[in-house]
Amino acid sequence: MQSITKLGIFTSGGDAPGMNACIRAAVRTALHAGKSVVGIYQGYQGMIEANFHEMNSRSVSNIIQLGGTILKTARCKAFHTAEGRQKAYDNIKAVGIDGLIAIGGDGTFTGAEIFSREHNIPVVCIPGTIDNDLYGSDFTLGYDTATNTVIEAIDKIRDTAASHDRLFFVEVMGRDSGCIALNAGIAGGAEAILLPEKATGIEELCNQLESAAKSKKSSTIVIVAEGEENGGAYNVAKEVKARFNFYDTKVTILGHLQRGGSPSSFDRVLASRLGFAAVRHLLSGKTRIMVGIRGNEIQTTPLEEVLNKKVFKLSEDMLEMMEVLSI
Ligand code: ATP
Repeated sequence: MQSITKLGIFTSGGDAPGMNACIRAAVRTALHAGKSVVGIYQGYQGMIEANFHEMNSRSVSNIIQLGGTILKTARCKAFHTAEGRQKAYDNIKAVGIDGLIAIGGDGTFTGAEIFSREHNIPVVCIPGTIDNDLYGSDFTLGYDTATNTVIEAIDKIRDTAASHDRLFFVEVMGRDSGCIALNAGIAGGAEAILLPEKATGIEELCNQLESAAKSKKSSTIVIVAEGEENGGAYNVAKEVKARFNFYDTKVTILGHLQRGGSPSSFDRVLASRLGFAAVRHLLSGKTRIMVGIRGNEIQTTPLEEVLNKKVFKLSEDMLEMMEVLSI
């Protein structure tokens, strides 16, 4: 095994708050170990286009508090092809990059796993996505911040819902994961939460809303996870309205405002720990692993396992509690 002298670092897939704090930690950990660092801009696209910039300690000054990613991110079709990956490999080899740190979601990890095997280049991955949908880490970068953003929005919507006796449907991100929906719903005191992991039909929802109305609630908020089975907040609102036309229903799709913003203290610390650990593991000869956090300890998981194991992060206790607390 040859020791690594020059690391390439990139972000890929959707941006997430905490990515910058993670870049900062990884760059400084590598520099501290006497290694060179190259920032690869726009993920795999940047590898194919040789969009590289040498980084020093000052390149990552004053970014710990910034959302988004200073390295930019992209979705790159060409990396799905062997020719595209060959071009990427030729480019990184030409500048002497001999190890990679990848920050992103499962698509990014899939690309990293294939690329690493194909060209025998060591890679360590860091979970960066607001969806919190990766096996091997209790939390992903950006999830805590996104959840806090959603809570802030629910609190504001609650003011209007209570003032007008309205029924609000708030759609939140998370793709196939209901983590943001469940946690923000609990923290925001939602009356009902529709999740991808637990089917709730319109009939069941209507029963819940009926008992909320009977108990004279002055406002009702239903959180709708984007991946749930009833077709999104607009559709759910339409179906509920068809049954209960006395309700004044409103829909809010929070959309991309959930992705940006200054990372929470939790995300900044998590990002720093993961960036630090990822570089240490890469330099110690590890490859094709993801560094994550489990039970407040940094743990590593082979990428193959991360990609092949199904993840279920909602606790049954919380699901039950949600129903009890919403009466
Ligand atoms: P998010 O969870 O925020 O969507 P992600 O990392 O899952 O993040 P994707 O768009 O799925 O985002 O993947 C990022 C990039 O990884 C893709 O644009 C593509 O360049 C690369 N990639 C994904 N899947 C593959 C694959 N099977 N082979 C090669 N590259 C891939």
